[in-house]
Amino acid sequence: MTQQHQRRAVVIGAGFGGLALAIRLQAAGMQVTLLEKRDKPGGRAYVYEDQGFVFDAGPTVITDPSCIEELFTAAGKKISDYVELLPVTPFYRLCWEDGSHFDYANDQEALDRQIHALNPRDVEGYKRFLAYSKAVFEEGYLKLGAVPFLTFRDMIAAGPQLARLQAWRSVYSLVSKFIENEHLRQAFSFHSLLVGGNPFATSSIYTLIHALERQWGVWFPRGGTGALVRGMVKLFEDIGGRIEVNAAVARIEANGNRVTGVRLEDGRRFDADAVASNADVVHTYDKLLAQHPRGRAESASLQKKRFSNSLFVLYFGLDHHHEQLQHHTVCFGPRYQGLIKEIFGGKELAEDFSLYLHAPCVTDPSLAPPGCGSHYVLAPVPHLGNAPIDWEVEGPRYRDRIFQYLEERYMPGLRSQLVTSRIFTPFDFRDQLNAHHGSAFSLEPILTQSAWFRPHNRDAELANLYLVGAGTHPGAGVPGVVGSAKATAGLMLEEVRSIRREEVPA
Ligand SMILES: Cc1cc2nc3c(=O)[nH]c(=O)nc-3n(C[C@H](O)[C@H](O)[C@H](O)COP(=O)(O)OP(=O)(O)OC[C@H]3O[C@@H](n4cnc5c(N)ncnc54)[C@H](O)[C@@H]3O)c2cc1C
Repeated sequence: MTQQHQRRAVVIGAGFGGLALAIRLQAAGMQVTLLEKRDKPGGRAYVYEDQGFVFDAGPTVITDPSCIEELFTAAGKKISDYVELLPVTPFYRLCWEDGSHFDYANDQEALDRQIHALNPRDVEGYKRFLAYSKAVFEEGYLKLGAVPFLTFRDMIAAGPQLARLQAWRSVYSLVSKFIENEHLRQAFSFHSLLVGGNPFATSSIYTLIHALERQWGVWFPRGGTGALVRGMVKLFEDIGGRIEVNAAVARIEANGNRVTGVRLEDGRRFDADAVASNADVVHTYDKLLAQHPRGRAESASLQKKRFSNSLFVLYFGLDHHHEQLQHHTVCFGPRYQGLIKEIFGGKELAEDFSLYLHAPCVTDPSLAPPGCGSHYVLAPVPHLGNAPIDWEVEGPRYRDRIFQYLEERYMPGLRSQLVTSRIFTPFDFRDQLNAHHGSAFSLEPILTQSAWFRPHNRDAELANLYLVGAGTHPGAGVPGVVGSAKATAGLMLEEVRSIRREEVPA
């Protein structure tokens, strides 16, 4: 009988997708090494700490806790031993410049009351919208969210459901079919922006986010999103996984149509039976596989695709706690459709902005010194491929404009309470995260770049090269990339099982 050896996998990048994949593979018996370029894991969910303020860099709205819990269960552990998830209510406060606001929460009566005040006919319309959104959630998320679309046949099989759900329509057009009031149309269509989707272009399938939030709620880890990342890293190490930070991969090495391992920028080499990349998809093919014909061909094809917008993120700590704020606030600016058009296709920075404001101390005061507040505010901005803005110059100006706006409308006295601040611009998405065009969410989630049309979870030519994370199916967002890890792990473990069958004669 042939000697069986433990199969070795290398995962490049410790974002949520890379971590979730590494946990699944290690739990299933592979020997996994997770290699992260930066000095801390988390990827977009990096953490900055300064003078007692803790700033989660990226994801703050944690939906579908069950997909995360599943990772702990798969590893034979309990999530509650690693991290505590706190419910957030309302889910979001949505504010407009006319001074009105809408508290979006999981409380039907409160929702109906607020909807009725804006337009009585929309109470019935909202019910129909919710029913639609639930149907999409069941088809698009529960059934197809973690299924790898490797062949066009898979796409055709999903076709009838997609057609029935009118997936060709945009999120905004679908919401408008049910709801008349413009504020409410914005309130129920902005969600796709959370995963890099333009509500006027992205498939109505993304209305499923609404049902997903109503089904499982919105959560925040005690200690911040960083505490969830630390919990996942600990889980991975507890079951024998190995993680290396400050380990930038320079090259994926291949022999014919199989990859053999990776070479780091510092010269170290890691052999592998399989490699999965959680790094940006264009970076993966264009840089890490630059020496292979497959890398050059796939990179050329990917560069013709449409990429999601970028973000300008401003982290700031105040010596004051703003009690009037909710945990999550969306500050709609004067324009909706016009601004979004400029964010996704404009050649320059718009004069106005819409913002998302994060005030985590509302849920967990330990994220700042006593009586103080940690915050971040983000503005969606065009990616560098559309608008080659010099963020070295524009960044500080944009910061000042946003501070002034917040001080005037949401946080009186802000600038006099400032203890610390830092910015993260499209240049940082490009340079620190290797994101193509500095996109914050990878490929834009339009129908023709989704499911089978998205880069597949397994490469079409390099048989043991896999992708995981925002650039592959199903796409960006924490539940999306954790779902991609499930799809990718399924394929990798299937290959291991088939090799084992070959190794062990019947
Ligand atoms: C500001 C912001 C707010 C967001 N808010 C939310 C939210 O509230 N809720 C939500 O669900 N989603 C949110 N998202 C989206 C979500 O954060 C992302 O879609 C998701 O975290 C991406 O995970 P990922 O696994 O694709 O990898 P990433 O987080 O992109 O991680 C990839 C990792 O690969 C590493 N890497 C790159 N190149 C190399 C290399 N050559 N060698 C080694 N390592 C490399 C990078 O350093 C990085 O750590 C937000 C995103 C941003 C930017």
